[in-house]
Amino acid sequence: VLEVVGLRKRFGDLTALDGIDLTVNEGEVVAILGPSGSGKSTLVRCLDQLEGIDGGAMYLDGELLGFEQGRTLRPLTDAGVRAQRRRMSMVFQQFNLFPHWTVLRNVTEAPIAVHGIAPAQAKAKALDLLAKVGLSDKATAYPRQLSGGQQQRVAIARAVAVEPRVLLFDEPTSALDPELIDEVLQTMQALAATGRTMVVVTHEMEFAREVADRCIFMAEGRVIEDRPAEAFFRDPQTDRLRSFLARSM
Ligand code: ATP
Ligand code: MG
Repeated sequence: VLEVVGLRKRFGDLTALDGIDLTVNEGEVVAILGPSGSGKSTLVRCLDQLEGIDGGAMYLDGELLGFEQGRTLRPLTDAGVRAQRRRMSMVFQQFNLFPHWTVLRNVTEAPIAVHGIAPAQAKAKALDLLAKVGLSDKATAYPRQLSGGQQQRVAIARAVAVEPRVLLFDEPTSALDPELIDEVLQTMQALAATGRTMVVVTHEMEFAREVADRCIFMAEGRVIEDRPAEAFFRDPQTDRLRSFLARSM
Protein backbone atom coordinates (compact mmCIF):
# COMPACT_ATOMS: atom_id res chain seq x y z
CA VAL A 1 0.00 0.00 0.00
CA LEU A 2 2.67 2.45 1.08
CA GLU A 3 6.25 2.55 -0.09
CA VAL A 4 8.98 4.93 0.97
CA VAL A 5 12.31 4.95 -0.85
CA GLY A 6 15.36 6.91 0.30
CA LEU A 7 13.27 9.62 1.92
CA ARG A 8 15.24 12.68 3.02
CA LYS A 9 14.10 15.71 4.95
CA ARG A 10 16.14 18.63 6.23
CA PHE A 11 15.25 21.51 8.49
CA GLY A 12 17.96 24.06 7.63
CA ASP A 13 21.24 22.39 8.56
CA LEU A 14 19.56 19.60 10.46
CA THR A 15 18.93 16.31 8.65
CA ALA A 16 15.71 14.98 10.18
CA LEU A 17 15.30 12.02 7.80
CA ASP A 18 18.43 10.56 6.30
CA GLY A 19 17.31 8.07 3.66
CA ILE A 20 14.29 6.18 4.99
CA ASP A 21 13.19 2.99 3.24
CA LEU A 22 9.89 1.54 4.40
CA THR A 23 7.14 -0.63 2.98
CA VAL A 24 3.72 -1.01 4.57
CA ASN A 25 1.56 -3.78 3.16
CA GLU A 26 -2.20 -3.99 2.98
CA GLY A 27 -3.74 -4.65 6.40
CA GLU A 28 -0.44 -4.34 8.21
CA VAL A 29 0.04 -2.50 11.51
CA VAL A 30 3.51 -0.98 11.70
CA ALA A 31 4.75 0.59 14.93
CA ILE A 32 7.49 3.20 14.78
CA LEU A 33 9.63 3.48 17.89
CA GLY A 34 12.70 5.50 18.70
CA PRO A 35 14.18 8.15 20.94
CA SER A 36 12.96 11.73 20.99
CA GLY A 37 14.20 13.66 17.96
CA SER A 38 14.83 10.55 15.86
CA GLY A 39 12.44 11.74 13.14
CA LYS A 40 9.31 9.71 13.84
CA SER A 41 6.87 12.63 13.64
CA THR A 42 8.71 14.06 10.66
CA LEU A 43 8.29 10.74 8.86
CA VAL A 44 4.52 10.50 9.34
CA ARG A 45 4.13 14.22 8.58
CA CYS A 46 6.00 13.69 5.31
CA LEU A 47 3.76 10.71 4.51
CA ASP A 48 0.70 12.89 5.09
CA GLN A 49 2.30 15.64 2.95
CA LEU A 50 2.24 18.11 5.82
CA GLU A 51 5.96 18.58 5.15
CA GLY A 52 7.76 18.91 1.85
CA ILE A 53 10.59 16.45 1.25
CA ASP A 54 14.17 16.98 0.10
CA GLY A 55 14.83 13.64 -1.54
CA GLY A 56 13.58 10.15 -2.20
CA ALA A 57 10.03 9.17 -3.04
CA MET A 58 6.80 7.99 -1.47
CA TYR A 59 4.17 5.86 -3.20
CA LEU A 60 0.59 5.18 -2.18
CA ASP A 61 -0.92 2.27 -4.09
CA GLY A 62 1.88 2.70 -6.59
CA GLU A 63 1.13 6.38 -7.14
CA LEU A 64 4.02 8.79 -6.59
CA LEU A 65 3.00 11.20 -3.84
CA GLY A 66 3.35 14.90 -4.52
CA PHE A 67 3.63 14.60 -8.30
CA GLU A 68 1.30 14.35 -11.22
CA GLN A 69 0.97 10.84 -12.52
CA GLY A 70 2.35 10.68 -16.00
CA ARG A 71 5.46 10.73 -18.04
CA THR A 72 6.86 13.99 -16.74
CA LEU A 73 7.54 14.67 -13.09
CA ARG A 74 5.42 17.69 -12.44
CA PRO A 75 4.63 18.71 -8.84
CA LEU A 76 0.96 18.46 -7.98
CA THR A 77 -1.16 21.54 -7.53
CA ASP A 78 -2.55 22.20 -4.04
CA ALA A 79 -5.81 20.58 -5.13
CA GLY A 80 -3.91 17.53 -6.32
CA VAL A 81 -2.09 17.24 -3.01
CA ARG A 82 -5.41 17.52 -1.17
CA ALA A 83 -6.83 14.71 -3.30
CA GLN A 84 -3.91 12.45 -2.41
CA ARG A 85 -4.03 13.42 1.25
CA ARG A 86 -7.68 12.38 1.37
CA ARG A 87 -6.56 8.79 1.05
CA MET A 88 -4.73 8.94 4.36
CA SER A 89 -5.93 10.01 7.80
CA MET A 90 -3.76 11.21 10.61
CA VAL A 91 -4.56 11.03 14.31
CA PHE A 92 -2.53 13.56 16.28
CA GLN A 93 -1.32 13.66 19.85
CA GLN A 94 -3.54 16.68 20.52
CA PHE A 95 -6.83 15.34 19.04
CA ASN A 96 -7.38 18.57 17.01
CA LEU A 97 -11.18 18.38 17.18
CA PHE A 98 -13.12 21.50 16.24
CA PRO A 99 -14.26 22.86 19.62
CA HIS A 100 -17.37 24.64 18.36
CA TRP A 101 -18.75 21.55 16.59
CA THR A 102 -20.54 18.61 18.15
CA VAL A 103 -18.92 15.22 18.21
CA LEU A 104 -21.19 14.11 15.38
CA ARG A 105 -20.30 17.06 13.17
CA ASN A 106 -16.61 16.54 13.86
CA VAL A 107 -16.97 13.03 12.45
CA THR A 108 -19.31 13.81 9.52
CA GLU A 109 -17.76 17.05 8.27
CA ALA A 110 -14.99 15.61 6.10
CA PRO A 111 -17.10 12.83 4.57
CA ILE A 112 -19.79 15.36 3.61
CA ALA A 113 -17.74 18.44 2.71
CA VAL A 114 -14.65 16.80 1.24
CA HIS A 115 -15.76 13.38 0.03
CA GLY A 116 -19.26 14.32 -1.09
CA ILE A 117 -21.06 11.64 0.93
CA ALA A 118 -24.79 12.27 1.40
CA PRO A 119 -25.43 13.78 4.86
CA ALA A 120 -27.85 11.06 5.97
CA GLN A 121 -25.40 8.36 4.97
CA ALA A 122 -22.48 10.15 6.63
CA LYS A 123 -24.50 10.52 9.81
CA ALA A 124 -25.50 6.85 9.91
CA LYS A 125 -21.90 5.84 9.41
CA ALA A 126 -20.65 8.30 12.05
CA LEU A 127 -23.12 6.96 14.60
CA ASP A 128 -21.97 3.45 13.82
CA LEU A 129 -18.32 4.45 14.27
CA LEU A 130 -19.09 6.30 17.50
CA ALA A 131 -20.75 3.15 18.79
CA LYS A 132 -17.64 1.18 17.87
CA VAL A 133 -15.43 3.53 19.89
CA GLY A 134 -17.90 3.38 22.78
CA LEU A 135 -19.32 6.88 22.46
CA SER A 136 -22.89 6.38 21.27
CA ASP A 137 -24.19 8.69 23.97
CA LYS A 138 -21.83 11.57 23.13
CA ALA A 139 -22.90 12.40 19.56
CA THR A 140 -24.43 15.74 20.54
CA ALA A 141 -21.76 16.68 23.09
CA TYR A 142 -19.01 19.22 22.41
CA PRO A 143 -15.34 18.28 22.69
CA ARG A 144 -14.81 20.30 25.90
CA GLN A 145 -17.46 18.13 27.58
CA LEU A 146 -15.39 15.00 26.98
CA SER A 147 -12.35 13.51 28.68
CA GLY A 148 -9.10 13.39 26.79
CA GLY A 149 -9.54 9.71 26.09
CA GLN A 150 -13.04 10.27 24.76
CA GLN A 151 -11.82 13.13 22.57
CA GLN A 152 -9.10 10.95 21.15
CA ARG A 153 -11.63 8.21 20.40
CA VAL A 154 -13.72 10.77 18.53
CA ALA A 155 -10.60 11.75 16.61
CA ILE A 156 -10.08 8.09 15.69
CA ALA A 157 -13.71 7.75 14.55
CA ARG A 158 -13.22 10.91 12.48
CA ALA A 159 -10.07 9.51 10.88
CA VAL A 160 -11.79 6.25 9.98
CA ALA A 161 -14.95 7.96 8.68
CA VAL A 162 -13.31 8.87 5.38
CA GLU A 163 -12.27 5.25 4.72
CA PRO A 164 -8.60 6.05 4.26
CA ARG A 165 -6.21 3.60 2.67
CA VAL A 166 -3.77 4.22 5.52
CA LEU A 167 -4.28 5.50 9.07
CA LEU A 168 -1.35 7.41 10.54
CA PHE A 169 -1.02 7.92 14.29
CA ASP A 170 1.53 10.18 15.97
CA GLU A 171 1.73 9.30 19.66
CA PRO A 172 -2.05 9.19 20.05
CA THR A 173 -1.88 8.47 23.78
CA SER A 174 1.00 10.61 24.98
CA ALA A 175 -1.17 13.63 25.82
CA LEU A 176 -3.49 11.49 27.95
CA ASP A 177 -3.61 10.89 31.66
CA PRO A 178 -2.38 7.36 32.40
CA GLU A 179 -5.82 6.03 33.32
CA LEU A 180 -7.20 7.09 29.92
CA ILE A 181 -4.50 5.50 27.80
CA ASP A 182 -5.90 1.98 27.79
CA GLU A 183 -9.29 2.87 26.39
CA VAL A 184 -7.62 4.53 23.39
CA LEU A 185 -5.18 1.66 22.88
CA GLN A 186 -8.08 -0.79 22.99
CA THR A 187 -9.91 1.25 20.37
CA MET A 188 -6.82 1.11 18.17
CA GLN A 189 -6.43 -2.60 18.77
CA ALA A 190 -10.04 -3.18 17.69
CA LEU A 191 -9.36 -1.13 14.58
CA ALA A 192 -6.26 -3.15 13.79
CA ALA A 193 -8.30 -6.34 14.16
CA THR A 194 -10.61 -5.18 11.36
CA GLY A 195 -7.68 -5.27 8.96
CA ARG A 196 -6.93 -1.56 8.65
CA THR A 197 -3.52 -0.52 7.41
CA MET A 198 -1.97 1.50 10.22
CA VAL A 199 1.32 3.28 10.89
CA VAL A 200 1.61 4.09 14.57
CA VAL A 201 4.29 6.21 16.20
CA THR A 202 4.15 5.23 19.84
CA HIS A 203 6.02 4.89 23.10
CA GLU A 204 3.63 2.16 24.23
CA MET A 205 5.83 -0.92 24.10
CA GLU A 206 3.13 -3.36 25.06
CA PHE A 207 0.87 -2.08 22.32
CA ALA A 208 3.69 -2.36 19.79
CA ARG A 209 4.49 -5.88 20.86
CA GLU A 210 0.93 -7.14 20.96
CA VAL A 211 -0.82 -5.27 18.18
CA ALA A 212 1.81 -4.36 15.61
CA ASP A 213 2.80 -6.81 12.91
CA ARG A 214 6.10 -5.07 12.38
CA CYS A 215 8.18 -2.68 14.45
CA ILE A 216 10.56 -0.07 13.11
CA PHE A 217 13.28 1.40 15.30
CA MET A 218 14.51 4.82 14.22
CA ALA A 219 17.50 6.82 15.42
CA GLU A 220 18.95 10.00 13.96
CA GLY A 221 16.68 9.98 10.97
CA ARG A 222 17.46 6.41 9.92
CA VAL A 223 15.74 3.07 10.18
CA ILE A 224 17.96 0.99 12.46
CA GLU A 225 15.75 -2.10 12.67
CA ASP A 226 12.62 -3.21 10.82
CA ARG A 227 11.37 -6.61 11.92
CA PRO A 228 8.31 -8.64 12.90
CA ALA A 229 7.15 -7.43 16.31
CA GLU A 230 7.88 -10.65 18.12
CA ALA A 231 11.50 -10.86 16.92
CA PHE A 232 11.99 -7.13 17.42
CA PHE A 233 11.43 -7.44 21.15
CA ARG A 234 12.84 -10.90 21.71
CA ASP A 235 16.04 -10.58 19.77
CA PRO A 236 17.17 -7.01 18.96
CA GLN A 237 19.98 -6.97 16.40
CA THR A 238 21.69 -3.78 17.49
CA ASP A 239 23.04 -2.47 20.79
CA ARG A 240 21.07 0.69 20.18
CA LEU A 241 17.74 -1.05 20.14
CA ARG A 242 18.76 -3.30 23.00
CA SER A 243 19.52 -0.34 25.26
CA PHE A 244 16.43 1.54 24.04
CA LEU A 245 14.24 -1.42 24.97
CA ALA A 246 15.99 -1.83 28.31
CA ARG A 247 15.29 1.83 29.13
CA SER A 248 11.69 1.77 27.90
CA MET A 249 10.30 -1.40 29.40
P1 ATP B 1 9.55 12.88 19.73
O1 ATP B 1 9.62 11.45 20.23
O2 ATP B 1 10.11 13.82 20.75
O3 ATP B 1 8.20 13.28 19.25
P2 ATP B 1 10.41 12.60 16.98
O4 ATP B 1 11.11 11.31 16.73
O5 ATP B 1 8.99 12.69 16.58
O6 ATP B 1 10.60 13.00 18.51
P3 ATP B 1 10.77 14.76 15.14
O7 ATP B 1 9.74 15.65 15.70
O8 ATP B 1 10.48 14.07 13.87
O9 ATP B 1 11.26 13.71 16.22
O10 ATP B 1 12.08 15.64 14.94
C1 ATP B 1 13.25 15.17 14.27
C2 ATP B 1 14.27 16.29 14.27
O11 ATP B 1 13.82 17.34 13.43
C3 ATP B 1 14.50 16.91 15.64
O12 ATP B 1 15.86 17.23 15.77
C4 ATP B 1 13.64 18.16 15.60
O13 ATP B 1 14.19 19.14 16.44
C5 ATP B 1 13.72 18.56 14.16
N1 ATP B 1 12.50 19.25 13.71
C6 ATP B 1 11.24 18.72 13.66
N2 ATP B 1 10.36 19.60 13.18
C7 ATP B 1 11.06 20.73 12.90
C8 ATP B 1 10.72 22.00 12.37
N3 ATP B 1 9.47 22.30 12.00
N4 ATP B 1 11.70 22.92 12.24
C9 ATP B 1 12.97 22.62 12.60
N5 ATP B 1 13.38 21.45 13.09
C10 ATP B 1 12.43 20.50 13.24
MG1 MG C 1 7.24 13.15 17.60
